[in-house]
Amino acid sequence: MSAPRRRRPTLVLKGVSKSYGAGEISVRALTDIELVVERGDFVAVMGSSGSGKSTLMNLIGCLDAPTEGRYLLEGIDVSRLDDVELAFIRNRKIGFVFQSYNLVPRTSALRNVELPLIYARVPKQERRERAEAALVAVGVGHRMQHVPAELSGGQQQRVAIARAIVTQPALILADEPTGNLDTAAGAEVMQIFSRLNAEGRTVVMITHEPEIASYAKRVIHLLDGRIDADRRTTPLTALPPLLVAGDVAKTETA
Ligand code: ADP
Ligand code: MG
Repeated sequence: MSAPRRRRPTLVLKGVSKSYGAGEISVRALTDIELVVERGDFVAVMGSSGSGKSTLMNLIGCLDAPTEGRYLLEGIDVSRLDDVELAFIRNRKIGFVFQSYNLVPRTSALRNVELPLIYARVPKQERRERAEAALVAVGVGHRMQHVPAELSGGQQQRVAIARAIVTQPALILADEPTGNLDTAAGAEVMQIFSRLNAEGRTVVMITHEPEIASYAKRVIHLLDGRIDADRRTTPLTALPPLLVAGDVAKTETA
């Protein structure tokens, strides 16, 4: 009988600050952020407009670098990497889901999901199989050959989630993922995130809607660029609170 091995956190922010611009016109968007997100957590980041949510998302997503402090993503210090290295880390370690889906237009769902695997130089046959499996897993296996304009908002977001998970990232990072969806489609998307988390994936999601945040296991509030509250609502190792048992892939209403 061995004690459970201590696992490396997915992300660690130590004394992270971010300013835009220099000198007189410098704007401080984040101040002294201390944040540890363990593997398997499901975190909602809330805060009013201008509180620093997007800045935090950009730092965590390796889209931008902190002005001060350190950021460790799966133990790798990414605060000192150059743009090429950051792009590599982004592709390998992070799956992004955006409010506006950001799918490539006039390109099939299947091809959209294959794209990150093309960048990762995964061979064609494996690429195809993994993309198909990801689309089936989020309940749009029957829409693989459709282009985004032929899909509902909820279906487009499912394709975007398939694209985010197909690389098996350490972290799923979502910015207002239900912001453009009606209540029913939003709830379905949140079930997908809940199921992905139940399967062990780490999810960090920005939202300003308390109802959406209630799907998470931990809720962080930003105020004027600082962490104002950090509330664990469900134990790290428990199932996400609003997970509905059963096969999410079969619940699609469309
Ligand atoms: P949120 O996403 O919570 O609305 P942001 O992270 O976008 O907040 O912004 C936090 C603060 O940083 C705001 O005061 C905003 O005006 C400022 N800010 C954000 N991006 C930039 C930028 N590129 N240049 C200058 N100031 C910025
Ligand atoms: Mg924002």
